[in-house]
Amino acid sequence: MLKAYKYRIYPDSGQRIQIAKTFGCCRFVYNRTLAYKKEMYEKEKKSVSKTDCNNFCNRKLKKEYEWLKEVDKFALTNAVYNMDSAYQKFFKEHTGYPKFKSKHDNHKSYTTNFTNGNIAVDFENGKVKLPKLKGVKAKTHRRFDGRIKSATVSQAPSGKYFVSILAEIEHMEMPHTEGNTGLDLGIRDLCITSSGEKFGNPKTIKKYERKLARLQRQLAHKEKGSRNYCRQKKKLALCHEKIANARKDYLHKVSHKIISENQVIVSENLQIKNMIKNHHLAGSISDVSWYELTRQLGYKAAWNGRKYIKIDTFYASSQICSGCGYQNAGTKDLSVREWICPVCGEKHDRDINAAKNILAEGLRQTA
Ligand SMILES: [Zn+2]
Repeated sequence: MLKAYKYRIYPDSGQRIQIAKTFGCCRFVYNRTLAYKKEMYEKEKKSVSKTDCNNFCNRKLKKEYEWLKEVDKFALTNAVYNMDSAYQKFFKEHTGYPKFKSKHDNHKSYTTNFTNGNIAVDFENGKVKLPKLKGVKAKTHRRFDGRIKSATVSQAPSGKYFVSILAEIEHMEMPHTEGNTGLDLGIRDLCITSSGEKFGNPKTIKKYERKLARLQRQLAHKEKGSRNYCRQKKKLALCHEKIANARKDYLHKVSHKIISENQVIVSENLQIKNMIKNHHLAGSISDVSWYELTRQLGYKAAWNGRKYIKIDTFYASSQICSGCGYQNAGTKDLSVREWICPVCGEKHDRDINAAKNILAEGLRQTA
């Protein structure tokens, strides 16, 4: 199984120059081969393959622009291939026409391939070996044991550097369990399970979100392009990064717990969920978190032989008594948190009852 391990790296000044050069060369090659492809198509009605584009880069561009030889050659080839897949995507999925990359693009990265031990992680000394950079200081907090395939070096808008190592590792599936669970994705609590467990929205994220709002207000008062403006933008990027990391960490804990305890997991389809949600209540927290949680549940279920079902059909999960099936229209009002079924007398917590119905519906659909 292929798995990515991302580490923060601390390149020295020489290494930072080399990384910046590689970003620049990749952007250059991307743009020039895109222009080449476009021109060949418009002038000669010829569709050129990614190999043709790579040959154009090696035989033509590298001759004309000697400095392209100063950076890692795999990074350039991957830039050409990225351009080609953006182009293919445009044809197949009718997404936007591939754009030329700008110098001011916030997303800076390049990918290099493993060959003859050119990429290695030294866990003992906290270093990552990369082509043309030798040893880069790194925070190697997660160990892995496997064959390295590639490495992606990136720089976040906050200015921090990272490397993501893709490796082929042997995967141990979690042991089989008898548990099943339904999940109600909520706003007050992020996720409520049919067995009554509630995962709240972490306070740290709320704290950072307030800080983010403050930073944004401050930015609005600064003169665009000024030194203070740039400094403020960096602070803002750092805050975004902190929120994203805190969210991911927390959601990994939640998804790990749910997957390890259950064999079948059922939740609502997010598109449906978004259609019916009350827009006044929905904060940005739940939107991003729901998406990320269901994404993690999806791949972790696949890795561990679990079944993750997303139910498509809309039905009034919070109105139906999970005990007897009676439909209680009185619970349409979102402020009703608890109710007693007038038919069977069962006492319900609104969200747990909904989660129970979601589980039952998922099991029914797959029976
Ligand atoms: Zn009932």
